[in-house]
Amino acid sequence: MSDHGEAAACVGGEERKAELAEALAAVEARIERACAAAGRRRDEVRLLAVTKTFPASDVALLTDLGLTDFAENRDQEAGPKAEEVAKLRPEARVRWHMVGRLQRNKARSVVRWAHEVQSVDSIRLADALAKAVRAQGRPPLAVLIQASLDADPARGGCPLSELDALAGYIAGAGGLDLRGVMAVAPLGADPAEAFARLAEVAGRLRRDHPGASEVSAGMSGDLEQAIARGATCVRVGTALLGGRGLASP
Ligand SMILES: *Cc1c(COP(=O)(O)O)cnc(C)c1O
Repeated sequence: MSDHGEAAACVGGEERKAELAEALAAVEARIERACAAAGRRRDEVRLLAVTKTFPASDVALLTDLGLTDFAENRDQEAGPKAEEVAKLRPEARVRWHMVGRLQRNKARSVVRWAHEVQSVDSIRLADALAKAVRAQGRPPLAVLIQASLDADPARGGCPLSELDALAGYIAGAGGLDLRGVMAVAPLGADPAEAFARLAEVAGRLRRDHPGASEVSAGMSGDLEQAIARGATCVRVGTALLGGRGLASP
């Protein structure tokens, strides 16, 4: 017997899938154009879908459309969502990335769902993550150092003057695998200039740590500038999934 609610949900799912497919095609076109303009290959840039505030069903549809990498900024939201996605799409290859500010007391929880943490900004946090990985017997956790490009402590990120010390700590801590840097362009600043500074920081880091080659930069509004300045990973929320509303982070 057919259930009206189920039928409606199904039609809704098809509509949402079409909407997401259209948005994904537009984002893909932007990334391809930006790579071409910068003389870079498309496969040098990973697309991370930032799914914060959006339901697991959207993540499931995005896996159907071929996406594999998803980012969240809150542990409380991401853990249950990752579990739900695993139930909805048990066969899908899904990798989760933590991109938000992280309290040390969340380290044990985050390493249960995150394949990579992009927002490591202090030795204390790196230490808590390393201990959690070892205590749970997990393989080394991929981490990026979040660099502060505006030295505003309220927005997180490691001050540039402390970045070398943090990188050295991570490289020596069992349980962590240093992969590169991440940054958010400062509010009200020219993103191209900010990403140029990040590229310098990334280049310096790579000299000491050759495996740390990822540069995570660029969001819905500035992914072209980030790709022009060498980003290897763009984090796109709004342009893929729609607006999050004023109350959402
Ligand atoms: C929310 C968020 C994004 C995505 O931002 P959009 O402008 O919606 O694309 C990227 N990076 C971080 C760290 C975020 O918190």
